[in-house]
Amino acid sequence: MKILVPVKRAIDYKVTIRVKPDGSGVDTDNVKMSMNPFDEIAVEQAVRLKEAGQASEVVVVSIGSPKAEDTIRTAMAIGADRGMLLTHDTAVEPLAVAKLLVKLVEEEQPGLVILGKQAIDNDANQTGQMLSALLGWGQATSAAELVVDGDSATVTSEIDGGLQKLRLTLPAIVTTELGLNQPRNATLPNVIKAKKKPLDVREASSLGVDLDPRLKVTKVTEPPARKSGIQVNSVEELVAKLRDEAQVL
Ligand code: AMP
Repeated sequence: MKILVPVKRAIDYKVTIRVKPDGSGVDTDNVKMSMNPFDEIAVEQAVRLKEAGQASEVVVVSIGSPKAEDTIRTAMAIGADRGMLLTHDTAVEPLAVAKLLVKLVEEEQPGLVILGKQAIDNDANQTGQMLSALLGWGQATSAAELVVDGDSATVTSEIDGGLQKLRLTLPAIVTTELGLNQPRNATLPNVIKAKKKPLDVREASSLGVDLDPRLKVTKVTEPPARKSGIQVNSVEELVAKLRDEAQVL
């Protein structure tokens, strides 16, 4: 079974986000970019399934800037076998990403597509669900555990207030939650090996999918600055402040 893992190049999660002065978006100039953390977990899970003999090949794909080659090489250093880069010079929205992935699924015929549950730049949490609907495949989102057994997969999903166990018939779509695994650090020999792994680069527009944006960002704003805290001298004073000033009691 082949596993397809879409990986997005996003602003590194440790970077303090700067909103552009005109409110049109987030400043990405000279900002560290990395693989979306949920996608790193997806790659790790796919590689573990291959190591356990349950997958034959792990193929990663990234859609966007040519610089996403770095993201694909990182995935290969974790253990992915092969990469595909679909270049496009503007951001590609989740629906268009899902439609491009449909084309790649038709080409590659994977038994499982493991995506991140969301990209931390847009927090959309849409692509896996849209891909599942477009393909008519079963899906399990926010996977905290994934067990493959023959032609089915059992996924424990994190849902509000608990866990839900789902059995999916393969091929299927799974999206990852943070607790699914702890991705390994790529070793230097594996980083060097990754440079030689096959990478197929194409223009996203060559796949015959409408990539025009359907969404318009009207304004991006910083969250209100947090007020600095104060120290109180007693529980009584704390309760009085919560009651009279914060009015939360
Ligand atoms: P989103 O729906 O945008 O929150 O993204 C959910 C998941 O879809 C991500 O964690 C990735 O696995 C995948 N994805 C979204 N955008 C891209 C992209 N441009 N390239 C590759 N994978 C993507």
